[in-house]
Amino acid sequence: METQKGNIGVTTTNIFPVIKKFLYSDHEIFLRELVSNAVDATQKLKTLANADEFKGSTDGLKVTVAVDKEAGTLTVTDQGIGMTAEEVDKYINQIAFSGAEEFLNKYKDSANAIIGHFGLGFYSAFMVAKKVEIRTLSYQEGAQAVSWVCDGSPEYEMGPCDKSERGTEIIVHIDDDEKEFLEASRISALLYKYCRFLPVPVIFGKEQEWKDGKYVDTDRDKVINDVEPLWTRKPTDLTDDDYLKFYRAIEPGQEDPLFWIHLNVDYPFTLTGILYFPKIRNNLDIRKDRIKLYCNQVYVTDSVEGVVPDFLMLLQGVIDSPDIPLNVSRSYLQADRNVKKISTYITKKVASRLEEIAKNDAKQFEEKWNDIKIFIEYGMLSDEKFCEQAMKFALLENVDGKFFKLDDYKTLIEGEQTDKDGNLIYLYSTDKTGQYTYIKGAQDRGYDVLLMDGQLDVPFVGLLEQKNDKSRFVRVDADVLDRLIVKADTRQVELTEPEREVMTTVFRTQLPKLDKSDFMVNLAALGENDKPLVITQSEYMRRMKEMAQYQPGMSFYGEMPDSYTLTLNTDHPLMKRIIADANAAVADKLTPLDEQLTATQNVIKAIRDLDKDGKGVPEDKKQDLKDNEDRAGELREQKTAIVAEYAAGQPVVKQLIDIALLGNGLLKGEALSAFLNRSIELL
Ligand code: ADP
Repeated sequence: METQKGNIGVTTTNIFPVIKKFLYSDHEIFLRELVSNAVDATQKLKTLANADEFKGSTDGLKVTVAVDKEAGTLTVTDQGIGMTAEEVDKYINQIAFSGAEEFLNKYKDSANAIIGHFGLGFYSAFMVAKKVEIRTLSYQEGAQAVSWVCDGSPEYEMGPCDKSERGTEIIVHIDDDEKEFLEASRISALLYKYCRFLPVPVIFGKEQEWKDGKYVDTDRDKVINDVEPLWTRKPTDLTDDDYLKFYRAIEPGQEDPLFWIHLNVDYPFTLTGILYFPKIRNNLDIRKDRIKLYCNQVYVTDSVEGVVPDFLMLLQGVIDSPDIPLNVSRSYLQADRNVKKISTYITKKVASRLEEIAKNDAKQFEEKWNDIKIFIEYGMLSDEKFCEQAMKFALLENVDGKFFKLDDYKTLIEGEQTDKDGNLIYLYSTDKTGQYTYIKGAQDRGYDVLLMDGQLDVPFVGLLEQKNDKSRFVRVDADVLDRLIVKADTRQVELTEPEREVMTTVFRTQLPKLDKSDFMVNLAALGENDKPLVITQSEYMRRMKEMAQYQPGMSFYGEMPDSYTLTLNTDHPLMKRIIADANAAVADKLTPLDEQLTATQNVIKAIRDLDKDGKGVPEDKKQDLKDNEDRAGELREQKTAIVAEYAAGQPVVKQLIDIALLGNGLLKGEALSAFLNRSIELL
């Protein structure tokens, strides 16, 4: 064979400046490309041997990576099929590379995209090299070894050489700017990242041992990879221990996972992998770059956005598929039909695995529920399909720590917790200790109370209401017991209008001022065994405020004060006494004011009645109206002042209010110390 000189067949433009200029961010992947080419060449030889087209031995085939700092080279050597001169010409010299500019502009930040698209794996070496040499001997009988050298210009030199071992050697003369790739520690780290699970042994340096106070090289090769990673093996051959060991190897320092799922499909696309449900201890633990994507055991990326549905990005593990196009932009990836199918498949598989565990090992599933529920709720909230499947295995936990499937729970509460309009009312608590009295009250009525204190429980409750007709979730402290689940039309309060007014004023005027809280006072006949005074927080307003945390557009709700309702039980003996005492004490003072007020209101009404066509009262009556309205306002204020003065001298009223506030954790600071002092005085 003659020495040959020529130009590399790049059609539109010189490829090397392009490679250097545009691909600078991902320089390190040249190593992945060279080692995977070496592995491919090795696998091809094995395939030929299996087909009996190669008669030699394929035992102990390996790929070797070596750096020589002095010579400034990094060498990747394999014992694979090698190349003939014709093959070098065909595979290395002729690069179809048209429309380069346009393409590069489109994908300029992704080296993966360009390399994948053009099959430029080998040429990526020029990202870090000033010169690249190939020395190769084909497996074919009588083949002649070939050397190929190129210094980064379009010219190469090719000729015979004296290589006697079958296979290929790629010698990369590292550029002066890229000296880091001559450091053993850097190469070691890169091999670990990209080549850790390649299917052919990859050797880098020697195993070391401790001798005479230091580490020294032995003569045993150091194999850096696991040639048969767990996901490539048959699930039926594997034990729990195997899965745990593998997890510990890929996620060192983590607590053991809760569950895992072995993915394995070969039609209509090829995909294998293992996904683990990690134990999440707190929000800081939540990271979305834990699933690693491989392509035929070569590490590609840990950004799996688009390939895996968002909620599953909280899982860990590996996915290996040659069918995920890497040579495209993210937005294209998300629209790719194959990728969509893959994503759907993974979701379905995860759901059916969870369903299987829930069914076959209910106890384990319940034990781990609190750790996995964040994944499941997130999935149900964000993925319609997953939600449908998860309805079958999602659990509800009640305040006593019992777990129920959604359907079972429905059946359980149907009898007791259906209101007069046929709505099923789910009661829940967000704080077992804080809401203890309300929980106890509900349980004493024969109701069941769920515990909903998870990070996503607020939107989850909303989802369940949406999915189940005629179902409502109500927090135990959202209303007085009688009205949480309204069974029949409630009894009316038997008080006259003036008596009602006195009563609400007595309590309203004695409420301590609390930060960011509003109170409404109302009356209800709750029976003489119920508490005299109950503080509740409207379900609607509270939920609006809670949802504001999840939706930025609703922050307006978040800033509103908490609104509470103070319900006075007019049936309670203590209340009855307060009502009687108060009315007796203030009636005489209020009667003349009431009479004046009635008279004033009659005048106001008479003036308003003059406005027949809705255009306003006659001009000459306007002042009169205003004077009377002011007068009515004054009279009302006087009435309030009388009641307030009376109420201020009734420590029992303050005491009742404070006890109720205390029971809700609302009594703090000055109000709390006033309560304590008063309590001692009352003793
Ligand atoms: P790709 O691997 O995507 O086809 P490359 O530029 O990396 O693109 O390689 C081009 C071709 O050169 C390969 O398909 C293969 O035929 C050949 N080749 C590269 N490296 C080796 C090697 N180490 N041994 C044998 N053939 C090789």
